[in-house]
Amino acid sequence: MIVGKQKPLPEIREMIADYGNILILGCGTCATVCFAGGEREVDILASSLGIAAKLEGKERVTTKHTVKRQCEWEFLDEIEEKVKQADAVLSLGCGVGVQAIAERFPEIPVLPGLDTLFMGMPVEEGVWVERCVGCGNCILNQTGGICPIARCPKGLINGPCGGYRDGKCEVDPTRDCAWVLIYERLKKMGRLDMLHTSQPLKDYSKMGHPRSITR
Ligand code: SF4
Ligand code: SF4
Repeated sequence: MIVGKQKPLPEIREMIADYGNILILGCGTCATVCFAGGEREVDILASSLGIAAKLEGKERVTTKHTVKRQCEWEFLDEIEEKVKQADAVLSLGCGVGVQAIAERFPEIPVLPGLDTLFMGMPVEEGVWVERCVGCGNCILNQTGGICPIARCPKGLINGPCGGYRDGKCEVDPTRDCAWVLIYERLKKMGRLDMLHTSQPLKDYSKMGHPRSITR
C-alpha cells in the first residue's frame, strides 16, 4: 500500500487561504488504511478547518466526501457535481490521487492535504515501514524475500557493508541490518548458497520516470 501522512494544519490552512468553498476529498483505499485520509480524517479535518475559520472571522464552506479510490477516474465521476460547486478540492489521497483528480477535473485547483511517503506495510498498530521502492527489476527471489534496496539505507545488493553491530544497521542502530535479515532468512530456507551468486550492477534505468505499463 501507499503510505502517507497528513500535512500539518497550518500548512493546509495556508494552502486553502484563497478559497472559500472547499471540497475535502478522502480516499477509501490506502489513505484510509494508514489513517491519513479516510472518512474519519476528512471529518476531523473539516471540523478543524471550520474552527480555524471561525477564529479568524472568515467565511468558509467545506463539503466532505470520500471516494473508494482517488487514483482511478471511474471512482471520481460521483464527485462531478460537488467539484462544480467548489473553489478547490483538498485531497486526502496520495500524490497519484491528487493528479488523477487534476486530470479528470482540469478546471479546478487540487491541493495535496497529504505528504505521500512510501510503499510499505504495517508492522504493528500505527506503525508502517517501507518495503519497496519500485525499482522495476525485482530481486526478492534472490534475497530471501527481503528487499535490500528499500531496507538497507545504502541500497547494497551484494551483501552487507560490514558496519552492522549485533544485527543492527550502522546507519540507524534502531533498525535491523537488511543483510543480516536476508542471511537469517536464507539460512532458514536452507538456501545460503544463494549468497555465493553476486548480483549484476543494478539497472537503475528501469527506475527512469515517468514509467508506465500496458497490459
Ligand atoms: S527489489 Fe525492487 S521491486 Fe523488488 S521489492 Fe525491492 S525495490 Fe521493490
Ligand atoms: S549495516 Fe546493513 S542495512 Fe545498514 S547500511 Fe550496512 S549493509 Fe545496509
